[in-house]
Amino acid sequence: MSLLVTGSIAIDTVSTPYGVSEDCLGGSSVYFSMAASFFTPVRLLGVIGSDCPFDLAKVFAGRDVDLTGLEVRENSKTFRWKGTYSDNMDDRRTDCLELNVLAEAPPRVPDEYKDSKYVFLANTAPALQLQLLEQIEKGVFAAADTMNCWIENELDDLKQLLKKIDCLIINEDEARMLADEHNLIKAAQKILDTGPSVVIIKKGESGSITYNSDGESFILPAFPAAEVKDPTGAGDSFAGGLMGYLAQVCKTDSESLKTAIAYGTVAASFTIADFSLQGLTSIDKTDIDGRFETLRKLTHF
Ligand code: AMP
Repeated sequence: MSLLVTGSIAIDTVSTPYGVSEDCLGGSSVYFSMAASFFTPVRLLGVIGSDCPFDLAKVFAGRDVDLTGLEVRENSKTFRWKGTYSDNMDDRRTDCLELNVLAEAPPRVPDEYKDSKYVFLANTAPALQLQLLEQIEKGVFAAADTMNCWIENELDDLKQLLKKIDCLIINEDEARMLADEHNLIKAAQKILDTGPSVVIIKKGESGSITYNSDGESFILPAFPAAEVKDPTGAGDSFAGGLMGYLAQVCKTDSESLKTAIAYGTVAASFTIADFSLQGLTSIDKTDIDGRFETLRKLTHF
């Protein structure tokens, strides 16, 4: 089933205890698309400036990622992000954020994308996420991600967005900040009260917890990964594996969601093994299914 993603396409510079990757390809929608394409065709909607050094057609060659919605804007500059990870690889500092093209008008949704049934609003300005959702036909399963800078600076837009989405995927510090509540269980309930029927809270190395408006919950640890070089994009790859699976099976019931969360967990475990997209581009679906089975055995008792 058709899966549409919009979010950032970035030039990243990332420092981790394992090295520095300068001016590499990143962005929330790029990681998402790469992970989701193992499961289902993806429609990517995004905008870059004419300075973008990456050929996205080459990056996604051989994968079912539709780039009709990729806009190259003359006289604009591509979004840039620079971040540094501490020794524990979980804490991250943003050193520099240049919104550039992300501060401009959103890309137009091509007519052929408008019938998408699964939509992921990856991390970008909530105003852009809202405007894009409004251009899609009703009756979709819409999920979104956000981050601290939008909670701090664009809270009103974010609250509007929360009323319109089905699922929020957010990390634990951001969930606490958004709900203004330290206890994660209470924070999840407060977020559910603002609109989405599912909230998935990512806890890095500690996995994820999920709550829905029917009072059901689900916890899953992270895949025990021996190789961790660069956690950038883990959250977006988690969302990509999750939404990719839901779109593949065309279901959003709670059992399917559990399987989807496990696939998201596995996709993220490959992303963190290397810098930029290399952890995902060096594997195939067999690798993903292998780790999925391992995770299933590890969590069964
Ligand atoms: P994650 O590690 O899953 O949070 O995703 C990291 C990716 O998100 C990087 O490739 C960044 O380019 C991108 N990113 C970082 N900050 C933002 C932001 N404020 N808006 C959109 N994308 C961002």
